[in-house]
Amino acid sequence: MVFINCIMQVHGLKDRTQDLRKSLNDSLEGDIRDFLINEAELHTYDDLTKVNPVTPSTVLKCLQARYSAKVFYTHAGCTLVALNPFQPIPHLYSLDVMREYHTAPQPQEFKPHIFIVAEEAYRNVQGQVEPINQSLVVSGESGAGKTWTSRCLMKYYATVATSSQKCQDTVEKIERRVLDSNPVMEAFGNACTLRNSNSSRFGKYIQLQLNGSQLLVGASVQTYLLEKTRVAFQAPTERNFHIFYQMMKGATEKQRLEWMLPSEQDFAWLPHAEKTLEEDCLRETVEAMINLGIDERKRTQILAGLLQLGNVYFSPASEEAQPCDLDGHSKGLICFSADLLQVPLDELQSCLTVRTLLAGKQSVLKPCSQSECGVRRDCLAKVIYAQLFDWLVTFINNSMCADSSMWCNFIGLLDVYGFECFLLNNLEQLCINYANEKLQQHFVAHYLKAQQEEYVTEGLQWSFIRYQDNQGCLDLIEGSPSSIFSLLNEECRLNRVSDAKQFRVRLQKELSDNTSISWDKLSKEPHFTVAHYAGNVSYQIEGMMEKNKDPVPPEIISVLQKSQDSLLHSLFADGDRESEGSRGHSKVVTVVSKFKNSLESLMKILHSTTPHYTRCIKPNPDCRPLTFKKEEVIAQLEACGIVETINISALYMFCAVFLSFCVPPRQAWMDALAEAELDDAEDFMENEASSVLPKLDPLLKERGSVQLSSIQEPVLVRGWPIGLAMASAPSVTVSLTATGFQRIMSMMACLKSPFRHGGYKVKTNQFDQGVASIRAQPRGSIKMHLQRSPLLYADMHPVHKTDVVTGFNQILLERT
Ligand code: ADP
Repeated sequence: MVFINCIMQVHGLKDRTQDLRKSLNDSLEGDIRDFLINEAELHTYDDLTKVNPVTPSTVLKCLQARYSAKVFYTHAGCTLVALNPFQPIPHLYSLDVMREYHTAPQPQEFKPHIFIVAEEAYRNVQGQVEPINQSLVVSGESGAGKTWTSRCLMKYYATVATSSQKCQDTVEKIERRVLDSNPVMEAFGNACTLRNSNSSRFGKYIQLQLNGSQLLVGASVQTYLLEKTRVAFQAPTERNFHIFYQMMKGATEKQRLEWMLPSEQDFAWLPHAEKTLEEDCLRETVEAMINLGIDERKRTQILAGLLQLGNVYFSPASEEAQPCDLDGHSKGLICFSADLLQVPLDELQSCLTVRTLLAGKQSVLKPCSQSECGVRRDCLAKVIYAQLFDWLVTFINNSMCADSSMWCNFIGLLDVYGFECFLLNNLEQLCINYANEKLQQHFVAHYLKAQQEEYVTEGLQWSFIRYQDNQGCLDLIEGSPSSIFSLLNEECRLNRVSDAKQFRVRLQKELSDNTSISWDKLSKEPHFTVAHYAGNVSYQIEGMMEKNKDPVPPEIISVLQKSQDSLLHSLFADGDRESEGSRGHSKVVTVVSKFKNSLESLMKILHSTTPHYTRCIKPNPDCRPLTFKKEEVIAQLEACGIVETINISALYMFCAVFLSFCVPPRQAWMDALAEAELDDAEDFMENEASSVLPKLDPLLKERGSVQLSSIQEPVLVRGWPIGLAMASAPSVTVSLTATGFQRIMSMMACLKSPFRHGGYKVKTNQFDQGVASIRAQPRGSIKMHLQRSPLLYADMHPVHKTDVVTGFNQILLERT
């Protein structure tokens, strides 16, 4: 194919390259200055691929300008960037706005909005474009706006995917349930953290099921790794899950009596209860639970039992061989707890203080140490809470999942915890950050790698955009034979008392070849540091192996199996949960293995769907309304590789058009069209071309010029790189029809590339209606030396102005 034959080489002569590099840097700085000088215009860039040049500073300035102008959404090519306003924006998400986007012939021509993403996915399903199923991936760090965005998306579909058959009962029921599931899952799964007052402490993939008429007929939720440690441990300045505060603050007098929660009582597991958050509203949660058919009274009673348990403390036994004591206060509280959980009091107390060891066929009772008792108490609370959460998810799924015969396609909505880096990071953060690495790799694979590899396959050599390939980091975490996960699992299998220092030595021995891991030699605490794509995170090893084993003493399970509360009883009735080492040989399915497996099935789903990415950005760390902190934003832009994304998106758009000229099946038809179009085209002479050149100011002229090595004088080129590429090919004929190709047409409009010298013939016809067909025939073959991707400077939607030159910088053409 002519384009494939067109020789594009990245490598020029060495000395010339060095000179060029320097001049490129100089010119880049100059270009950045020129771009930023038009301060008043910066907020108008609704797609960051239009920014020219694309650099962290230009992108940042545009986003800042838009934020100041209260514009919160911006396209970044294939990704939507959503800046969190941290205050409700009137009418931004109203039903009218939803309808506008839904009914627009071309929603993408409207202002950037999350509804464009929603509508595009919806139309893909309607259009049955393969892969028909869609995934909306919402990412960003804690507090950036993922939950909010997911909620908006759900509301959008609950509105538009039902509107065509308003009175349909089932559709309305599902819509209600999808929306009701949200406050319930947020109450049980979200908490106030250092970074966000409503942080999701679990990941979720919500599948909205659509029938053949694209009506919402069902939904299901898959959840990932609830951070259950939070039930019994909250980092300083953080809180427990919202539901506990909702109960404490919203209980009626009658409920207080039932739950044994006097308003003046302090609870160890309820820190910062004095803080009032809008998430503390019990009524909304209870209403949603009732709508979903959940008997909320029973669930909350169990939770009250956990709160009482948190205030139970142990003191060393007076005699060595005896179990730990409970002080007077704790004795009363454990009674409350046993009452609320409806388990036998004496067995509750003994399961927390005594372990059963098997010695041959005999069982031996061994009192636990004071600290072991505390660990067991926490474990009891965590296992109950986690099972209750899973039960809720199953219940919600049963109430809204459609029979598989009812639906044929889905739109999946992935709301995952963002990348986390706290002062102390442990297994939870490792899993969360691992999930983010996986998603980043999916993104890279989808948009970056795939496109660049396509060039290679097509024999085109380009100056590749550098992007971070995080495979090394993933190998470090999950690879085989040796990785952090495999070594953690091995520790569990060995079933010995974990030693953090020893484990660190082992990590060092096994993994030091991987450049993504390092150790701070000065730190006294055993730890390892992982170089994630979003930054370095130091993980403490202490406690990590125990968390991975997640042991539940069998005595605890057997007490819960005796609960008179039917739900609690049923949650543990099967009792096949992997249990602690006292029984020795039970099979341990570790936390990281479970997480890895569930993530792998998620990735399979993502790979089989068309993804749409939304990157939520948190403009300031304090969640203050309309406050834009540059350092905070730039760190997030860098962390998610947004600059590379913009570049590759520009490239992607270019490639989409470019390759469409080259791909053979597309070709016979194109040729025929082109011939038909060109038959009535009027040639225009080269001197005519030069005579229509607009007068340009010297700066623009310089920026828009292309140096032909065989011709001393720079040749003025107006247009977009594709114009150059086409004009430089030995013989190119292209034809496009106007309908349905508006975007391409806007690029094609730039193919009016008047060359003053160079001996090309460019034929156009119907130019006034947009270019319909073009034939460019250079006299000799052309070699292009691309010092960098021209698209670093490319204008994706070149505006057809007479005095503006866009698209080129430092592209050298050389006659061969
Ligand atoms: P994440 O799920 O990423 O941790 P959230 O979605 O909970 O973050 O957002 C944090 C807070 O920011 C929300 O509680 C809400 O107050 C605010 N917020 C997020 N997005 C928006 C928005 N588009 N408009 C108004 N407020 C928002």
